[in-house]
Amino acid sequence: MQFWLVALLLVCNAAQAQTPARELKTQKKVLLLMGTRFELVAVSEDEQQANEAIEAGITEIQRIEALISEWQPTSQTSAINRSAGGMPVSVDEELYELIRRSLRISELTGGAFDISWAAADKVWKFDGSMKEMPSQETVKNSIRHIGYHKIQLIPETHSVFLKEEGMKIGFGAIGKGYAANRARDLMRRMGIQSGVVNAAGDLITWGKQADGQPWYIGIADPADKEKVFSWLTADHTAVVTSGSYEKYAEINGKRYGHIIDPRTGYPVSGLKSVTIICPDAELADALATAVFVLGKEEGLYLVNQLKGVECLLVTDENEMVTSDQLHLHYYKNKPASAKAPIPAKTSKI
Ligand code: ADP
Ligand code: MG
Repeated sequence: MQFWLVALLLVCNAAQAQTPARELKTQKKVLLLMGTRFELVAVSEDEQQANEAIEAGITEIQRIEALISEWQPTSQTSAINRSAGGMPVSVDEELYELIRRSLRISELTGGAFDISWAAADKVWKFDGSMKEMPSQETVKNSIRHIGYHKIQLIPETHSVFLKEEGMKIGFGAIGKGYAANRARDLMRRMGIQSGVVNAAGDLITWGKQADGQPWYIGIADPADKEKVFSWLTADHTAVVTSGSYEKYAEINGKRYGHIIDPRTGYPVSGLKSVTIICPDAELADALATAVFVLGKEEGLYLVNQLKGVECLLVTDENEMVTSDQLHLHYYKNKPASAKAPIPAKTSKI
């Protein structure tokens, strides 16, 4: 009985393979959004529908950026930051909920992920301009105002209050994942059966490629980001990579990556890259940052507790480790049948 069932399924698959999948076309757009190289891909029989969905996805990402950016003075996040230590600020439900989820991830990760890390952003510059270590005093001072416990949410008025002057929040470690989720949702609602939203390595896929193959995702080699060092296939999955090799400060020959341990105020070391694989890009984005802070042992321990979340880590010693149940196909070499991959980390535009 079982045998026949399997045989039948195989026949169905074969029949499907003969249907003219050729009619599906792939539209793609690459552009700078949220200070990052975004790539939006839509697969559809209708070229115009695909292009419209991509444009709608872009508008959605721009809308989110204007709401959550800590750089744009007109954003609601900037209003919260300006009122730190003063008074609560009433914000849109969307931002309120993003902050609420961020606080939950802080709880889950013991504070390794913390949007209030941003109080330290005056101390560290990861754009190449920093040549000297800040004094211990300066670093110590910066962490006085970090602490997710000091972010108060007031549900009755949808208000957010940073309890101390000098506090600041920033969504650098979760915003791109959130935006990718939302753009994907919108494109799907517009009838796009498969596609990709890739924010320079924070990516979410749905469906399959136009030729019926899965999406192949290349994980960049932390030592040479132009090279792919491992391959994953993904279906309805987010694959998010945080690396210390993109934004960093080089001081006295040592590299300091852009992820800060909220407990010490110093950039973390130990891991070169963290890739999180799970169905939700926002969670994957935040967890990638958290695992970076937690380090190999604690990070793996956390990921192995979380159902449906997997990870791939590369340590400073170039050791590669994965979580217990990495279900996706993992290839050391590019599968012969694979078309060009989606690079999981790239900054070129
Ligand atoms: P990428 O920008 O490479 O995707 P991440 O998602 O890990 O990397 O985000 C790193 C950014 O998150 C930093 O540039 C900074 O804006 C912010 N950040 C740094 N440390 C933390 C932290 N411990 N918790 C939350 N956000 C952080
Ligand atoms: Mg992140």
